[in-house]
Amino acid sequence: MIKILIVEDEKPISDLIRINLSEAGYYCDCAFDGLSAAAMIDENKYDLILLDIMLPEADGYELMEYIRPQRIPVIFLTAKATVHDRVKGLKLGADDYLIKPFEIVELLARVEAVLRRYHVGQTVVEIGDVVVDTGSRMVKKENSEVQLTKKEYELLIFFIQNNNIALSRDTIYEKIWESDYMGDSRTVDLHVQRLRKKLGWENLVTAVYKFGYRLEIDNEAVVETFR
Ligand code: CA
Repeated sequence: MIKILIVEDEKPISDLIRINLSEAGYYCDCAFDGLSAAAMIDENKYDLILLDIMLPEADGYELMEYIRPQRIPVIFLTAKATVHDRVKGLKLGADDYLIKPFEIVELLARVEAVLRRYHVGQTVVEIGDVVVDTGSRMVKKENSEVQLTKKEYELLIFFIQNNNIALSRDTIYEKIWESDYMGDSRTVDLHVQRLRKKLGWENLVTAVYKFGYRLEIDNEAVVETFR
């Protein structure tokens, strides 16, 4: 699910944005001042940040300096409609800006446009009867949803990205569990087994002797589309 951080100190505006983005299928977190926003950005992976300029603690411009190296797309929310402020925001690396008050349809359109530019959540991959939608994190087989755990899903995406490449257990472990491989190959094996079973991919995810696993799909059978 696409995660959006809303940094806005005016509660009614924050609520309005959160409710509408949630209804549109996005996951939203809210920060009401600059410092807690920075802390939340450190702890979470956001796909997009909506950033107010006038904020307590640290303002939107200061936060932008902090966010920019992390390459998270940003839309400024601003009541300041002057050319100077808009230019300043864009120069700091914002992707777009919205002038308050704004219509919800405009907010949604800009959010979608920025996410599309970053290809966030836009990919739909079809592999035989399995369809993976990275936007909704939905996986379907023969049109019915397959329930995958977070790790199983990440494993699936990692296999797809490395189709036809043998992946060692170490590499898989370090990528999916984001920590150093401690030699516990059972974790990887168990997850691969479950993924195979859920997708009916017993013959597609093959074991590489004393090494790891490989997803084996004819590249021509993989259809990738950007919505
Ligand atoms: Ca404000």
